[in-house]
This record gives sequence, structure tokens and C-alpha cells, in this order.
Amino acid sequence: MPACIFCDIVRGERAAARVFEDEHLVSFLDHRPLFPGHMLLVPRSHLATMLDAANADLGALFAGARRAGRALEQGLGAQGFLVAVNNRVSQSVPHLHVHVVPRTRGDGLKGFFWPRRPYRDAAHLEEVRARLAAAAIEVG
Ligand code: AMP
Repeated sequence: MPACIFCDIVRGERAAARVFEDEHLVSFLDHRPLFPGHMLLVPRSHLATMLDAANADLGALFAGARRAGRALEQGLGAQGFLVAVNNRVSQSVPHLHVHVVPRTRGDGLKGFFWPRRPYRDAAHLEEVRARLAAAAIEVG
């Protein structure tokens, strides 16, 4: 397997500001945070994207994201938190990772992150919905 910086962090072979860990995941501070406290949660095993993970892996990561979010609110006084996962597009490290970012009202992330666009019309919305419904296969 080619070198993976997050595998190196999991193994303790690369320095990282580790926050908490369990048998499934390791969390640490993103070294270029959106805001101080921005954490990354990575599974201990090398999985590239969410599509490579079993439901149980994702459950453990989501539970970890809740733990991180509570720590951001209770430990840093964040008003809330954002949970995000880039899969392939905008994914700069090909080892699955969950961003947990502290939020404060008016922090500017809304305008940065969520430029919304309407569907062309009702037919366009229905075409998109139907294609997704047909492709939304359940996997374990
Ligand atoms: P993404 O762009 O969604 O793949 O996020 C990857 C994140 O990993 C970026 O926000 C980087 O700042 C962060 N990152 C990359 N290398 C390290 C590292 N050695 N320690 C901490 N964070 C890192």
C-alpha cells in the first residue's frame, strides 16, 4: 500500500495533536483548521472513502463525531458544530476522515460553504429524485 499520512498518524509514526481515540478511530486537530478546534476523525483501518466502509465503521465514526461535537461545545464553548466528509472530490487525503468543525453564529462559514442554486423547474427536480431513488441501493 502506498504511504498514507493518516495511517502514519494512527500508528503513532507521525506527530499529531491527538484528542481522543477508541478501538475504531483516532481523532486529532486539523493542522490547518477552519476554526481552532477543527478535528479530524479517522478509522484505524485504511479505507479510502465512505463507499469502502462497512455500516459498522460508519456508525463508529458518527458516534465519534458526536463525541467530538460535545467536546467542542462543552470544552471550547462552541455554539454548535459541522460534520463533513469529502469523498474523492475535494478529498486531499485518500484515507476516510470526518471533519468536525466548531461553529459560532455569524462565523462566516455559511456564505463560504453553502451557495445554493434552485432546480430549473419541477421536472428537473423529479428527474434528479428518480435517478437517485433508482440508484440508492442499500449495502451492509
Ligand atoms: P480533505 O481536504 O477533506 O481531504 O481534508 C484533509 C484535511 O487534512 C485538511 O483539512 C488538512 O489540513 C488536514 N491534514 C493534512 N495533513 C495533516 C496532518 N499531518 N495533521 C493534521 N491535519 C492534516
